[in-house]
Parts: sequence; C-alpha cells; structure tokens
Amino acid sequence: MNSLNKDFFAKQKNISWFNQELIEKQTISVIGVGGIGTNIAFQLARLGVQKIILVDNDNIEPSNLNRQSLFSKDQIGKKKTDVAKDTINKIHNLNSEIIAYDIDIFQNWKDTIDIVRKSNFVLNGLDLPEIKRSLISIVCLNLKKPMIYAGTDPFSGFSGMILYQSSKNNEPCYECMQGVLVDVESDLLIQYSPKKITQYDTIEWKILDKKYVEPIQNSSTTIVTALFASTLAVTGFIKVILGQKFPHRIIFDLYNMEIEKFFLNQRSDCRICIEFQ
Ligand SMILES: [Zn+2]
Repeated sequence: MNSLNKDFFAKQKNISWFNQELIEKQTISVIGVGGIGTNIAFQLARLGVQKIILVDNDNIEPSNLNRQSLFSKDQIGKKKTDVAKDTINKIHNLNSEIIAYDIDIFQNWKDTIDIVRKSNFVLNGLDLPEIKRSLISIVCLNLKKPMIYAGTDPFSGFSGMILYQSSKNNEPCYECMQGVLVDVESDLLIQYSPKKITQYDTIEWKILDKKYVEPIQNSSTTIVTALFASTLAVTGFIKVILGQKFPHRIIFDLYNMEIEKFFLNQRSDCRICIEFQ
C-alpha cells in the first residue's frame, strides 16, 4: 500500500470548507451511548476525530437493537460502553483513540466533570428524565465547552430535536431553549448550585419524586430517526469547531419531510444564564 492509499480522509479533504487537521485535534465526549450516542460515535471515528470518550453504564437490551448500531444480538446483556468501544475499533476506527467509561454520571460526578473538562466538545445523547441532560448542559456552561444535545421524540417515532448550546455566556443555554424549569430541576438546583456544579463529588438525584424519573411507557423510535438526529448533531460539531453558524434548535419531522431551524436569543429571565453572567 503506498502512502496515497493510506489517506483515509482524502475524500473529505476535498470539501472546500472542511478542515481535517482541526477535526484530528478534537477530543469529544459522547455522553449516553444509546440510539443517539452509538450513531454519533462511529461517525466521529470515520471522520478521524482524535479522541472519542464514551460514557454510559447501561447493559444492552433486546429493544435497543433496532437503532443502536454498534450492538448485535449475541451481545445482549453486555456493557454498552465495552461493546461500543470494541465494535468501533474492529469496524469503524481509522485513526482515533476510543476511551470508554462505564460509570453512572451522577454517582461518579467527579469523573463526569473530569471527562467534560478534558473534552473540546460534548455530544449529549442522554435519554429522559430531562434533568440528566440539563445538568450536563450546566456543567458545559460552567467549563465553557460547546454542547449539542440530540434526541428523538418518544411519542412520534419519526421526529426529533437538536439543541446547540455554545460556550459563550451571551447565547441561549439549554434551559433557555427548553422553556420553563420544571419543579424537579428547581429543587435540585437549590440543592446543587449551578455555579458550583463542578465542585461536587456526587449528585443524589434519585431521591427525587418518582414521577420525574420514570421512563415513558411504549416510547417509539427507529434507526432512521436516531441516525438522522445523530448526523445533524455531528454536522453541528463540525460546523461549530470550524467557527461556522449552526442553529440553536433544529426540529425535524421525517414522516412529513419537514425540518425547521431556529437561531434564538438568550431568555432574559433564564435563571441559569443570569447566574453565569
Ligand atoms: Zn439560559
């Protein structure tokens, strides 16, 4: 094989606005290795991102396999992070270092903070309850790391949403975009100050009322939806590190073939933004 054949990234280097050198300098954490996280992670490897940090503590379940593309039937019951790392290394990895943390992000809050601290960018693929995503977004604000959340709508099966929170404190934060803080978050944020969120060793959110943390019954999604949301999130990562504009919110409805993008302003009454100004 001559040196030309070894240039795995020759085709993307041909894109006029692309910057492969910059992509290859990035350390990205993928928090939540499920329908979104698996489909984000293999794309980052194919792009040549330097370090990909995978964070989750779930085991693979049969109902994951319709969309979580790094897992197969014979791996049911195994740890998601271990299997995701192995599959990426065997099939998708061209030049990346894959690091896997099988941790509960709240019980191991100190480790979670360290992971975000050493990342250039956070891709947030956490599922419900909302508080999980929200707390990671506050950590990102605190450590000035850009973050993109991607998710699929559990009620429609073919739609989803992307939210981009920049590292600047004059742009909308995750809470600005998600609307009014729900009670559970207000309670938790009284207990754990957003400004000091990186100083705690652990976050005890499981003590909260069960109605806030129970999963949605009969939720629906597909590989089509998860892959589309993941691809939009990865596109956002590429554009943001290149200093290009990316919408704060994208809503897509694949069934009706509709996609809407929004450039938003910070909400003047957002308690998180007020705290960080
Ligand atoms: Zn805000």
